[in-house]
Amino acid sequence: MPRFPGVDYIQFDSLLSEQELLVRQTARQFVDERVVPIIREAYNSAIFPTGLIREMGELGFFGANLEGYGCAGMNSVEYGLIMQELERGDSGLRSFASVQGALVMYPIHTYGSEEQKQRWLPKLQSGAAVGCFGLTEPDFGSNPAGMRATAEKRGGEWILNGEKTWITNGSAADVAIVWARAAEGVRGFLVEKGTPGFETSDIHGKLSMRASITSSLHFSGCAIPESNRLPGAEGLASTLGCLTQARFGIGWGVLGAAMDCYETARSYTLMRKQFGDKPLAGHQLVQEKLAWMITEITKGQLLALQVAKLKDAGRVEAAHVSMLKRNNVSIALECARLSRDLLGANGIMDEYPIMRHMCNLETVKTYEGTDHIHALVIGEKVTGLPAYR
Ligand SMILES: Cc1cc2nc3c(=O)[nH]c(=O)nc-3n(C[C@H](O)[C@H](O)[C@H](O)COP(=O)(O)OP(=O)(O)OC[C@H]3O[C@@H](n4cnc5c(N)ncnc54)[C@H](O)[C@@H]3O)c2cc1C
Repeated sequence: MPRFPGVDYIQFDSLLSEQELLVRQTARQFVDERVVPIIREAYNSAIFPTGLIREMGELGFFGANLEGYGCAGMNSVEYGLIMQELERGDSGLRSFASVQGALVMYPIHTYGSEEQKQRWLPKLQSGAAVGCFGLTEPDFGSNPAGMRATAEKRGGEWILNGEKTWITNGSAADVAIVWARAAEGVRGFLVEKGTPGFETSDIHGKLSMRASITSSLHFSGCAIPESNRLPGAEGLASTLGCLTQARFGIGWGVLGAAMDCYETARSYTLMRKQFGDKPLAGHQLVQEKLAWMITEITKGQLLALQVAKLKDAGRVEAAHVSMLKRNNVSIALECARLSRDLLGANGIMDEYPIMRHMCNLETVKTYEGTDHIHALVIGEKVTGLPAYR
């Protein structure tokens, strides 16, 4: 299996520091050596490669941009480059790291008590514990404000009732960050595996994100101590704060899938000959597709880099991240479709990563705010008019 050469059309790498290049190299090597050889089988069998969790933890991939508690304290570019390489391996792997870091460790780090941080962050960072994030419900996806899960205060406890669905890592999680409606507004809770009244069931039959666990979470009179409520999380704004972190990682991650599709099409069309001795890559229509892909990937890299710089400067807005997530997912999906086309019949085979990326990207387009919802966020930013309802 040839090693991934990367995509560096306009000397993008010259914008990266030595340390950023080193982090990318570490992640790239991990994906080449540990993910690429096994992911086809894992995807076909619909199994998440759990054996890689501890290795990713040891390499510092979980909560990599957080400080303290064993976290690597990386900048946003380093974090983004890790997501890019992981998603080049498979979106399921990047989803695991996104959920663990941005949707579980981040809320504990940002909204948690000192006791919650000490108890969970080192274990989540190392991969000794797994987390999940329960927001979506059967009747409320794009509009979480409608959530029906409730948290009722009774003495020193909170009683959770309701259902969450489409939850990545749900049944594998040692701790679930669960959002529920209390009398005071939406609140976040740490629900530990095995808590009475808390059950999980896995969702089967997915034709996308097959190498990823997706579950439903069921709560029936589930008693949670006050010490397991996130004390700093107040209202849906706290929930959305977590989503912005995850969406940022997705905006970088999908570039990895796009790069893999581009590179697969480029190398394939250079090898394959039709109509005489001319490689497919020597035809104008083929070159137009390759040119589109590398142009859009390059623009996506620059967008990701600028949003990362704003994030580290404390000047990023959720609407910036919406543009990053929406644009880069959209171009990655189109790269996968064009690449599939350029490989002809071979493009549908699992011998190549293209259809796997394409199917995964259909999920990535939907989760963490659909393409439509991010268009509405951008639309509100430029007009001042919310058009969600
Ligand atoms: C594999 C997978 C993993 C996931 N992991 C998690 C997880 O870990 N945690 C979690 O909480 N959730 C998770 N999700 C759920 C995901 O976030 C939701 O699916 C997503 O928010 C969309 O919600 P929905 O599926 O209910 O679609 P809907 O909200 O029903 O939307 C359906 C369609 O209607 C469009 N639409 C909705 N409202 C509007 C509007 N106002 N204007 C225009 N168009 C609109 C949408 O854009 C979409 O095209 C996951 C989903 C998948 C598929």
